[in-house]
Amino acid sequence: MPEMAENRRIGLMESVTGDQLEIWDKQYVWHPFTQMRAYCKEKPLIVDRGEGSYLFDIHGNRYLDGTSSLWVNVHGHGKEEINRAIREQLDRVAHSTLLGLANVPSVLLAKKLVEITPSGLNKVFYSDSGATSVEIALKIAFQYWQQQEREEYRSKQKFISLREAYHGDTIGSVSVGGMDLFHGKFKPLLFEAIHAPAPYCYRCPLGKNRDGCSMECVEEVERILDRRHHEVAGFLAEPLVQGAAGMLVAPEGYLSAVSKLCKQYNILLIADEVAVGLARTGKMFACNHEGVQPDLMCLAKGITGGYLPLAATMATDVIYETFLGEIDQFRTFYHGHTYTGNPLACAAALASLDLMSGTDFMESLQQKISFLSLGLEKFWKLKHVGDIRQKGMMVGIELVEDGPSKKTYPVSADMGHQVILEARKNGLIIRPLGDVIVLMPVLSMSIPQLEEVLNITYNAIKAVTE
Ligand SMILES: *Cc1c(COP(=O)(O)O)cnc(C)c1O
Repeated sequence: MPEMAENRRIGLMESVTGDQLEIWDKQYVWHPFTQMRAYCKEKPLIVDRGEGSYLFDIHGNRYLDGTSSLWVNVHGHGKEEINRAIREQLDRVAHSTLLGLANVPSVLLAKKLVEITPSGLNKVFYSDSGATSVEIALKIAFQYWQQQEREEYRSKQKFISLREAYHGDTIGSVSVGGMDLFHGKFKPLLFEAIHAPAPYCYRCPLGKNRDGCSMECVEEVERILDRRHHEVAGFLAEPLVQGAAGMLVAPEGYLSAVSKLCKQYNILLIADEVAVGLARTGKMFACNHEGVQPDLMCLAKGITGGYLPLAATMATDVIYETFLGEIDQFRTFYHGHTYTGNPLACAAALASLDLMSGTDFMESLQQKISFLSLGLEKFWKLKHVGDIRQKGMMVGIELVEDGPSKKTYPVSADMGHQVILEARKNGLIIRPLGDVIVLMPVLSMSIPQLEEVLNITYNAIKAVTE
């Protein structure tokens, strides 16, 4: 690691020292999902710049970006093609509104998204974050049923979602969320959602084992639908991997089985591909693994290659057409965010998608995924690793106090956090989900860099838990 250069002057603000920034960070910034008392006792890591798979802090220390800057980065930091696309757009216009007007990159990107997403998704509604893309999907699904000729369809007003689900932090997306830790406090503010069991095989809520089960969790979905389909507007889920829940990988066939049930019971399937979409799982979209065509799809995180905030909610023609009518029929979708369809973000997304469509992108991704799988095998030998879950370039390593009984560590031990601090000392930035160590490498990360991510993580787990 390079030497600490004390009080290096920071490019953006020539007169500010690193020490001063650290003080001001603690003094002025309230960080998301962060216990600020603990944060303020530690030395903050202030990122100054990025280059490829690396981030550099204000002291010049270099770190591998093991979480893709929170699950968003695709082609690495400072990717010339994306930088150029943003700069060129910047010279034309930085922002104009999509409320009643259009802009060039938002048109081109919508066309592109329709071309690459599962067939049937032909309309793009833009917003700025994963949470808003989910919020929009819920409201579209709700209004869709309200606009039906058949009276009985108008009672379809509720949503089924999975326990342990994470769909964002706005009130609507929290209502369909299933993580008590994040959502419990806000219960009085939330609308009622129907929860189905999470396909969490390591700790199966139905007491089964993955080897011997016949996906009783799907049967449970069917039981709910059978009883309540007349009041259900949609089934919302993160396809294949429940990310924020700790990288819970659903058994093969789960997604297609649930999709079939939705069709059978006339329920809209809403795929929240905010985390899993855009090649993260090894295919362009998680739904592609099981040939599933959802009615609504939410995209965000990786859509701009991790450069600018942008989200999209994709819808089928059937849904879209129910929103058409005369102005006094009030079928307009009265929803929009000020920066919706921002041209800079759309230009970045176009450049990122262009890079992904190159022939070797997907091919080299498969090699990296296999390399990760192989490299993860040795982790099973660690005494306090209970489970290892991987789908594509998403990895969750679940730490337990006791392997055989799957006993969890006490919350106060803060094991996940201890492990990532240890990894940080050795030049790797990762972020845990409770006691699940998450690896979400930049998709363009090289094999030797991936090897380093694995080694640092392995040693950090060993050092902290043994
Ligand atoms: C991150 C995430 C969201 C929320 O996205 P934001 O951009 O943070 O609002 C929604 N759904 C899933 C599956 C996510 O992983």
